[in-house]
Amino acid sequence: MRCQHCGSENIKRFSVVCEEGTSVENISATSKPVWNTKPFSPHGKQKIKGTRVVKTELAKRCSPPVSPETMVLYLSSFPGMFIGGYLGIRAGSLMHSFWLGLVVFLLVIAGLMFGAVFLWEKFGGGKKAMQNYRANVHVWQHSWYCTKCGEVTILL
Ligand SMILES: [Zn+2]
Repeated sequence: MRCQHCGSENIKRFSVVCEEGTSVENISATSKPVWNTKPFSPHGKQKIKGTRVVKTELAKRCSPPVSPETMVLYLSSFPGMFIGGYLGIRAGSLMHSFWLGLVVFLLVIAGLMFGAVFLWEKFGGGKKAMQNYRANVHVWQHSWYCTKCGEVTILL
């Protein structure tokens, strides 16, 4: 395997470049909330700890394409939560059953999410978008990055 631009053998798969450039950082910060937290902390300060995923610019460039179906599912989950939550609470309090409310809630969310994907595939050009996505993934799997000249070589 050689770079098609400069002939160098130092080429890496996109997935490898992406992995190398992705790191998880620990972050910790001290903040003083505006409200009084004296009962919880002697200094009125709170320590916040967490992690975040950091990608280099190169890793971002070499990241795999995002499935448009995931985006549709993700976007439809928000109205699903509101409508499902509303109907779930209505049904649950009407029948005085928490479990019935929960079942209604989950059914409405699942129905809306899969309904959204179905409609999107049928009428929203979803089939074409998925074909496009699969083609992009195929190209991504066969893309190599040259560490010498920075060019991309696609070996299908
Ligand atoms: Zn090269």
